Amino acid sequence: MVDDADLAHLRRCVALARAALEADDEPFGSVLVDAGGRVRFEDTNHVAGGDATQHPEFAIARWAAEHMSPEERAAATVYTSGEHCPMCAAAHGWVGLGRIVYASSSAQLVSWLAELDVPPPPVTALPVNEIAPGVPVEGPVPGLDEEVHELHRRLHG
Ligand SMILES: [Zn+2]
Repeated sequence: MVDDADLAHLRRCVALARAALEADDEPFGSVLVDAGGRVRFEDTNHVAGGDATQHPEFAIARWAAEHMSPEERAAATVYTSGEHCPMCAAAHGWVGLGRIVYASSSAQLVSWLAELDVPPPPVTALPVNEIAPGVPVEGPVPGLDEEVHELHRRLHG
């Protein structure tokens, strides 16, 4: 269940995504929250420089591996404006992070890109649980997904 604390963290992710777009990058933002509800790390997409692997969820997985114990990682939650891509879902799974809550799904992103006549990404969009089956996943969240949709319309408009 997505509660008020979850919604607050998701709103921060959408704000980060908006900031990334305004910095001429792609609109994705993510936040790592520990078991105590404390934000430990947050990031946005940094693909505008030419490295298409610079996703916030990948950065979070690396940060968590370096700074949190396995127990802390398992109890942490990753919030994100858009569901993890397969690369980031794999990184999340490999470092043993816990729950994922996303505002919008990969399936939604695929349909939005098609509707905007944008070529599909070079990596197939799959649900997180097809890559990391043990991770509890929640989303999309009605309302916030539409805000993310609008950011993608602006990116490709
Ligand atoms: Zn990714």
